[in-house]
Order: sequence, then C-alpha cells, then structure tokens
Amino acid sequence: MKNNRNRLNLHEILEVRHLTDSTFVIRFEKNDLNFTAGQHVCVGPPNGIHTREYSIYSAVEDPYIEILVKEVENGLITPVLKKLKAGDSVVVEEPVGYFSLNEKEKLNKKYLFIATGTGISPFHCMVKSNPDLKYEIIHGVRTAEEGYERTEYTQKRYTLCSSRDKSGDYAGRLTNYLQEIQIDKDSEVYLCGNCNMIHDAYDILENKGIPNEQIHAEVYF
Ligand SMILES: Cc1cc2nc3c(=O)[nH]c(=O)nc-3n(C[C@H](O)[C@H](O)[C@H](O)COP(=O)(O)OP(=O)(O)OC[C@H]3O[C@@H](n4cnc5c(N)ncnc54)[C@H](O)[C@@H]3O)c2cc1C
Repeated sequence: MKNNRNRLNLHEILEVRHLTDSTFVIRFEKNDLNFTAGQHVCVGPPNGIHTREYSIYSAVEDPYIEILVKEVENGLITPVLKKLKAGDSVVVEEPVGYFSLNEKEKLNKKYLFIATGTGISPFHCMVKSNPDLKYEIIHGVRTAEEGYERTEYTQKRYTLCSSRDKSGDYAGRLTNYLQEIQIDKDSEVYLCGNCNMIHDAYDILENKGIPNEQIHAEVYF
C-alpha cells in the first residue's frame, strides 16, 4: 500500500489547521522530498488530475511539509482541498522554483519581505528555516484576521497593513505604507502575492532607489 501511494506521489495528511473561514494550513507527510526555503510544490486532491502551485510554509528541517491555502470562491481545487482531513491524502509533486535566498550571503544581508494574503507563506518558511535572518515583513491584508499566525514572527519585524479595518498595525494599503517608510538601499527585497501589488510595489521601490537586481518577485495570480 505504502509503495503504491509513493508511486502516485500521494502524501498522507497529518493535520489541517483552519485559520479563518477561508484559509487553512495542510500538513502532510514529507516522505523523501527536499527543498530550499521559498520553493513551491504542486498539490492536488487524491482522486483528480489537477494540481495547483503552493509555496511551502513549513521550515526546511521540519519532519513534515505544510502549505497555507486560501479558498477561492468557484475555484477548481481550493474548495476540494478545504474539505480534506487528517488521514486523507494529497498528490504532491517535486518542489521547484527560484524564489530563494542566496545561501552564501543570507546571514550578511538585510531582507525586506513584502506579501499580500497567503503570499506570506514563503517568508514564513524562510524565517523559520533561518532563525538568525535579519528581516522585516510588510504584510498587506483586507482585515486583521488575515495576519496568519503572526505570533510566529519577531513582532517588531512584522507590520500588518489592513485596508478594510483599523485593527492591523497600519490602517491602509500596503503600498501606501511602503510610500511612507524609509528603505535601506542595501536591502534585498522579496515580493510575493497578487500581481497588482507586485507591479505597484516595484515602481515604489524603483523610485526609492532600490536597484532592480535586489528586487525579487513571485506572482501568485
Ligand atoms: C508559484 C505560485 C505559488 C502559489 N502559492 C500559493 C500559496 O501558498 N497559497 C495560496 O493560497 N495560493 C497560492 N498560489 C495560487 C494557487 O496556485 C491557485 O491559483 C489558487 O489556490 C486557486 O486555485 P483554484 O483551483 O481554487 O482556483 P482556479 O480555478 O485555478 O482559479 C480561479 C481564479 O482565482 C484566481 N485566484 C487565484 N488565487 C487567488 C487568490 N488567492 N485570491 C483571489 N483570486 C485568486 C485565479 O487567477 C483564477 O482567475 C500560488 C500560485 C503560484 C503561481
């Protein structure tokens, strides 16, 4: 049975944590998968042919893999993933992607991580995999409940910008906050989430004099 499951890339779900009505963490068996912080896996329901990309949320050394998923209304895959429980399985393909830190330089650099929504996921993995990383996170959400597991980050390094309520650290859009702050020109800046935010943030960073080669982006949709 175990061999059949492995051939089909089936990984048993160990736990599901529902963080809001629409967003959840699926923890599944790691089996023999290895990855670099920032990479993603394609995951799908056990009985279907379709998968979708998900950044790995858990740390590199964790004995399991976690992904952070937001259910998209009328989406093909996320409503099915949301119904899965511990003991069910998911199809998981090999981790891939280049949205990673430079292994040789990572402990000498300052990082600015900018995310919308579940775009926080690769940064959670990077921070948890590298406890000595010098980082700041700016997380843009609609309401503060989307500050997913924010206590996992050093609090002074994490700023939640909530555009539709005032209970974040900054009441307003992430891009407004970005306009208002000073950014160290030596920072390596990583952007992850929806393409509108990434385009707008890119322009703001360019205007602030951050060199292009220090800006890295992962577009979700
Ligand atoms: C490299 C990469 C990494 C990704 N990592 C994550 C991740 O860690 N967590 C995560 O939740 N998603 C992530 N995504 C998005 C994910 O792959 C799916 O697109 C998403 O889960 C929707 O799948 P679906 O089958 O339910 O919807 P589909 O039927 O594929 O699409 C429905 C529509 O929803 C749009 N859409 C996709 N995501 C969202 C969203 N979050 N909010 C609003 N509209 C959306 C799509 O553009 C499409 O128009 C990632 C995408 C990429 C390319």
